Amino acid sequence: MKTRLLFIDRDGTIIEEPPIDYQVDKLEKFRFKDGAIISLEKIRRYTNFKFVMATNQDGLGTDSFPEDTFWPYQNLMLQTLESVGVKFDDILIDRSFESDPLPTRKPGVAMMQKYLEDKDNFSLEESLVIGDRETDVILAKNLGCKAVFLGENLSEDLEKYCLIKAKNWTEAERAIISYNNVIKIKRDTKETKIDLKLYPGNPEIKRVDTGVKFFDHMLLQLPVHGCFGLDLVCKGDLEVDEHHTIEDVAIALGQAVYELWRERKLIGRYGFEFNLTMDDCLASVAMDLGGRPWLIFEADFFREKIGDFPSEMIYHFFKSFADNAKCNLNIKATGQNEHHKLEGIFKALAKCLKQAISYDFTLQTIPSSKGVL
Ligand SMILES: [Mg+2]
Repeated sequence: MKTRLLFIDRDGTIIEEPPIDYQVDKLEKFRFKDGAIISLEKIRRYTNFKFVMATNQDGLGTDSFPEDTFWPYQNLMLQTLESVGVKFDDILIDRSFESDPLPTRKPGVAMMQKYLEDKDNFSLEESLVIGDRETDVILAKNLGCKAVFLGENLSEDLEKYCLIKAKNWTEAERAIISYNNVIKIKRDTKETKIDLKLYPGNPEIKRVDTGVKFFDHMLLQLPVHGCFGLDLVCKGDLEVDEHHTIEDVAIALGQAVYELWRERKLIGRYGFEFNLTMDDCLASVAMDLGGRPWLIFEADFFREKIGDFPSEMIYHFFKSFADNAKCNLNIKATGQNEHHKLEGIFKALAKCLKQAISYDFTLQTIPSSKGVL
């Protein structure tokens, strides 16, 4: 697996940027950004990004910014971060002035040339830049990766280069951990072509297109209520009927959930029973991601179709999902309105998934007395 890099801006991102002269050269100007230390520690612990600090320090080493006023606070910052396990793998500093920029000055990429040239070992397209200025977003664009913009004011045309516009470090941290741990499933058969990505902890990403409109409506409940991102496109043989599309999406979704819990051990495992009401209906779902597929399904549907979704595929969807996620799924629903009944089930399933596949940062071991899942 190629190494992914997290290019981290310094001033305005890790530490506050003094608004008067943008220079951290005195103790009274030195202050960490709120949340930076704890979030960087979590990102270090829960991702495999290499940490690369990339910073412009205008005129460092000249009379306007002597070296001996820079290094004490740079070293203080590094030592503080190292004390909680956050060590930088590389530190890149450009010293040129904005008025006379060198190719190494961000958003130029000359400082990162060694990573750009070594395509065998580094994956720039899967790397990220985090920073508080538009130049950081342009740097991401120039490197061919996404940016995590930590701030409010960003021109609209740059938003497409962002993974997220984060209001604070907590939002940024969740997006970065989720991006690192994305689960990708591709399924290509004569019946369907599926491209599915599941982003744990990042509900901002939600796109579903299967060609079956009511099915899309149901599947969209999962990221909306499950606190994870879902990008799912399925091109199926709808000219035959809806069967293969619904079945194969269930398989792919189940495989994604299985990949997630198999690889990432610090998850909750259980979705405790959710009783979810929608008008006349009550839906109940419970889940165990324990490796033993099982489905209890107690809900009756009488309409041949709900919208363009055939009711006979409801059981088949959940059975295929449970088999492939290797999970125990217990589903019950009562009520009159069949749209409400099925939507209630999907919403309750989403709530279960939120518990079961969320990272539980309080867990120190695998949630099993056997020691394995
Ligand atoms: Mg900055």
